[in-house]
Amino acid sequence: MSDRGPSGPVPVIALDGLSGSGKSTLAKKLALRLGWSYLDSGAWYRSLTWAALERGVDPASAAAVLDLLSGIDIHSRADGAVVVDGRELREEIRAPRIDAAVSDVADHPAVRTALDQRMRALRDRPGVAGVVADGRDAGTVIFPDADLKVFIETDFDVRVERRFRQRLESHSESERAAVRRALDERDRRDAARGESAPRRLADGQVIDNTRLSVEEAIRRLLDLVETLQSRRAERG
Ligand code: C5P
Repeated sequence: MSDRGPSGPVPVIALDGLSGSGKSTLAKKLALRLGWSYLDSGAWYRSLTWAALERGVDPASAAAVLDLLSGIDIHSRADGAVVVDGRELREEIRAPRIDAAVSDVADHPAVRTALDQRMRALRDRPGVAGVVADGRDAGTVIFPDADLKVFIETDFDVRVERRFRQRLESHSESERAAVRRALDERDRRDAARGESAPRRLADGQVIDNTRLSVEEAIRRLLDLVETLQSRRAERG
């Protein structure tokens, strides 16, 4: 997997899964261990949504969002952080107002196509040894030729608890119910996105992350990477 030809594309590992599955934590750590760049495609959708809300652009209007996208500089750093017009976005894209609007932005097929194109450019950037990409369609639409595709599966209740504990606001029962409703709504919107809907793939692997620690899940991912590398080495 590290045997990039003189002009061949750098290797890509795609980790897909639903909100709260733990895929982003795993993708970020895996990229660090391999010395590769991390592409957090969800952060790209969130950042575009943030830019729309900042500039009074209606997230439900495909034309307006596309127009916005064509006028901004958007790229990401090796650690996955997205930069819009020179501003590095971190906590601001995790706010509830972004959670509420991001599915509107992600629902527009033309916006997805344009954003995918910008995301793919990371692979061609000088100095990038490899890319670990995560999202819903990283292994199907963004990088269909990924070297390794893994679907991260996690039970709904565990995903709710993880998201609930990440919240900075109060930890009341009504908050937990609100997290559950929001996650359920986002799952439904994700599932309705045709070829971009998150799913297990015939040419991919599945890791059930419901009961694994981060370290255990990373170990399984590294095992998959090693298996792939040794198969390639055998083939010469
Ligand atoms: O993974 P995260 O929750 O940060 O993603 C935010 C939103 O971006 C998701 O709810 C989903 O609607 C959208 N998304 C997407 N395709 C991706 C990644 C994220 O539609 N590849």
